[in-house]
Amino acid sequence: MRQQLLALHHISKTFVDGGEKRTILDDVCLEVHEGELIAIVGPSGSGKSTLLNITGIMLEPEQGQVFLNGKNMTEKKKKEWTKIRKNEIGFIFQHHQLLPYLTAEDQLSVFGKRAKKSAIDMEQMMEDLGIAGCKKRYPAQLSGGERQRVAIARAFVNDPSIILADEPTASLDETRGRQVVEMIREQIKKHKKAGIIVTHDKRVLDLVDRIYYLENGVCKEQA
Ligand code: ADP
Ligand code: MG
Repeated sequence: MRQQLLALHHISKTFVDGGEKRTILDDVCLEVHEGELIAIVGPSGSGKSTLLNITGIMLEPEQGQVFLNGKNMTEKKKKEWTKIRKNEIGFIFQHHQLLPYLTAEDQLSVFGKRAKKSAIDMEQMMEDLGIAGCKKRYPAQLSGGERQRVAIARAFVNDPSIILADEPTASLDETRGRQVVEMIREQIKKHKKAGIIVTHDKRVLDLVDRIYYLENGVCKEQA
């Protein structure tokens, strides 16, 4: 059996909007195993980012638990969340969110653990991602696809268990969007991570292992 790296148990979240309570997530359960890439799809405003932020322990659920590597994050002190986030979770955003004044290689080292060398061979990863030649360049000197690939490398730099990507293809054309998801997939399989991509980009859904559909607070796995 492949190890379960991530599990959401009965997650609920409501937001108050103009004095009115709105249930964004209603008893959401899902799990991701090592080497697996899943997608969460659903209309705009359905709560995909909210769900991803709860998974990445950036946002607290009202009810339910987040388990990373079998450990219940909801029980941990908030103070510990920052450290767990840094060590266990790699984020990839819609906009690469690279720092404009750092070269590609420095984007990685500034996020990396300082004392310990990353367990992942980052030279090899940059080769795999086709950005080995971009190391000395600043974000403004990279194409959109290259920037997103640097952001992928950065997400892996601390050898996390889980990779979370929120609309990673939204600012790319179809070819580059597919390329980015293919690369995320490849690295997740190679390094035995668990990955979640939030997307409304139907053009990349054939690249994931399983798809969950989120609408009206309900999250269902597609058969
Ligand atoms: P998606 O990523 O699927 O587009 P979001 O998770 O960003 O959806 O948002 C889901 C809904 O929750 C939206 O209606 C949004 O306006 C609302 N929402 C998100 N964050 C907050 C917040 N901090 N306070 C109030 N409402 C929020
Ligand atoms: Mg969103």
